[in-house]
Amino acid sequence: MKKTYLNEIPNLVDKEIEVYGWVHEIRDTAKFLFIILRDSAGKAQILINKEKTEIYNVAKELHHEDVIYVKGIVKKSEIARLGYEIIPNEIKILSKAKHPLALDVTGKINAELNTILDARYLSLRRDDYNAIFKIQSALVRYIREFLYERGFIEIFTPKIIKFATEGGAELFQVKYFDEISYLAQSPQIYKEICSGAFEKVFEIASYYRAEKSRTPYHLTEFLSFDVECAFYSYHDIMDLLESLMKFVINKLYEKNEKEFNILKCEKINVDYKFERIKYDEVISILEPYGIKWGDDLTQHTLKLLEGKIGKKFFFIIDWPTELKPFYTHEHEDNPKITKSFDFNYGFLEIASGGERIYNGDKLVQKLKKMNLNPENFSLFIKALDSGMPPHAGFGLGISRLLLILTNSKNIKEVVLFPRDVDRLIP
Ligand code: ATP
Ligand code: MG
Repeated sequence: MKKTYLNEIPNLVDKEIEVYGWVHEIRDTAKFLFIILRDSAGKAQILINKEKTEIYNVAKELHHEDVIYVKGIVKKSEIARLGYEIIPNEIKILSKAKHPLALDVTGKINAELNTILDARYLSLRRDDYNAIFKIQSALVRYIREFLYERGFIEIFTPKIIKFATEGGAELFQVKYFDEISYLAQSPQIYKEICSGAFEKVFEIASYYRAEKSRTPYHLTEFLSFDVECAFYSYHDIMDLLESLMKFVINKLYEKNEKEFNILKCEKINVDYKFERIKYDEVISILEPYGIKWGDDLTQHTLKLLEGKIGKKFFFIIDWPTELKPFYTHEHEDNPKITKSFDFNYGFLEIASGGERIYNGDKLVQKLKKMNLNPENFSLFIKALDSGMPPHAGFGLGISRLLLILTNSKNIKEVVLFPRDVDRLIP
């Protein structure tokens, strides 16, 4: 007989089944011992009659998080909280948990974030964290589904690199035999090169930034979802991102209702056109607060903006050239601004993107202007000089999106094993 998963038992009434899982809760009464068994798919009540001494002798030794095997008959029950119960004919202990445990898996006793992260081996068994990472898995799946359906190619670029792409300060150094290398901050130039062959590419991978700032939104290792498309303008890319977001979020609410119910979080409405607000307009909205043209939009500034326009998805477009990375394409009729965008939910930036410089000479000029050494980019310049089409793309922080969707407070909650200035373990 094969393992029955606990979500299958409503279809197996009066049948004998074999289940495996963890002891989630134990309730002791005069005549019965009630055990709530948990597995990756659900929970079920095991009803042990104390008069059945052989089984009761095993069951009375059980503690929270012990792993057990139960063979028994499924019964429908009017009183059981879960609607069904299993009447056991055999119980075996497969693995004992040593008490006290670092965390209460039922979630009844709340724990500090640090405890939750230190004891990930237990907190991932909690209904809420378990739901968050099931949503993450589905989110990535629906992104892939959307893009494969539209002819995208999934790529895998190197994470150990020789030269920086997003500015030198935030790089982690890696000793690479006898030379120095770095951990990639983004797949930028590699995805651009790939778009010059496959046209439409995407990658979902981790990147590294030596961010010393302690914010609820920054990690030193973060999961990014990157897209690059040849022959797309930045408006085409925003169209793509907008339809992708609507598809993925609607599909999550449709297919993952169980997980969202566990988290008790309200659905985010995506049923509107995501506005494209020019950077200039943002500045005029924020002028009364002393914000002027050329200023970067800090989180504090963006919170003021959220206060004015509300908490929703929107784009800020046409950023000053000075505020965007060297590869960003300028507007032909006004080189002070770029064909670029940030994609936000309220104050929180979720993605950045835009059109890229696709001419080698132009890139060399730009690198020199920004005091960067063109020699470090010789491979990329060769690629641009070998027939590179106009192209555009974006990078989106998966965990920031997951944080919003699950109504979490800190990005560390929605990352399995987060890395930040203070955390390298577990
Ligand atoms: P921020 O201004 O919020 O620090 P950024 O503009 O430096 O972000 P980009 O280089 O535009 O970041 O990266 C694209 C996306 O990757 C961001 O919009 C964000 O969602 C995500 N991201 C970037 N850095 C981090 C980080 N340190 N931790 C988590 N996510 C990040
Ligand atoms: Mg950005």
